[in-house]
Amino acid sequence: MTQPLFRDDPYLREAEATVLAVTDAGVELDRSLFYAASGGQPADFGSIERGDGSSVPVAGAVYGEDKRRILIQTEAAELAAGDQVLQHLDWDRRYRHMRMHTALHLLSVILPYPVTGGAIGAEEGRLDFDIPDPDLDAERISAEVMVHVDADHAVTTEWITDEELLANPGLVKTMSVKPPVGQGRVRLVRIGDIDLQPCGGTHVARTGEIGLVAVSKIEKKGRLNRRVRLRFIGE
Ligand SMILES: [Zn+2]
Repeated sequence: MTQPLFRDDPYLREAEATVLAVTDAGVELDRSLFYAASGGQPADFGSIERGDGSSVPVAGAVYGEDKRRILIQTEAAELAAGDQVLQHLDWDRRYRHMRMHTALHLLSVILPYPVTGGAIGAEEGRLDFDIPDPDLDAERISAEVMVHVDADHAVTTEWITDEELLANPGLVKTMSVKPPVGQGRVRLVRIGDIDLQPCGGTHVARTGEIGLVAVSKIEKKGRLNRRVRLRFIGE
């Protein structure tokens, strides 16, 4: 089992770990600094430093089938079970994911419609919505997102049981990505008093950290489906 360090402290950039196993599927550490791809957020990059000071690059991470292990994509032949290592995160890339991920939560507040898909990148993110009235104004949406960025809302997490979540289906905005029930509890992400939803991704601590974003494109993906893209601007 891997302790997901990014879940409790998304600002952690370095962490020690012990190699538990090395297989064709990846390197399993007892604790992972590297976010494993899920929920539309890509896996982290970085490196693993060995005891002799040499390091191997990390090109991603995935969850094992049981969802309790994280398998790190790296040059496995360079590592062995029992090794004590130091993980280094590609922080610039991750921080952009945190900012864009949080911005997409704000977008879902501005557009309170069911979300059918989404993806996060270091330059851009998108959400797909089922929208009954599909006349969307990119400038108005951008301005409303920036109102919530400038309000500098606190972003916090809390946990509820599977039973509590099932009793409150209105918390779930995404139709395509169901929250991971079955572990006994689900993490909720709260943004000020404007948003509360289940999410396992990494977010910034305050919405002001998002910086300048704007809607770059609204695409028609079906009669009642719109893909809204957000981009960082001025960077
Ligand atoms: Zn999230």
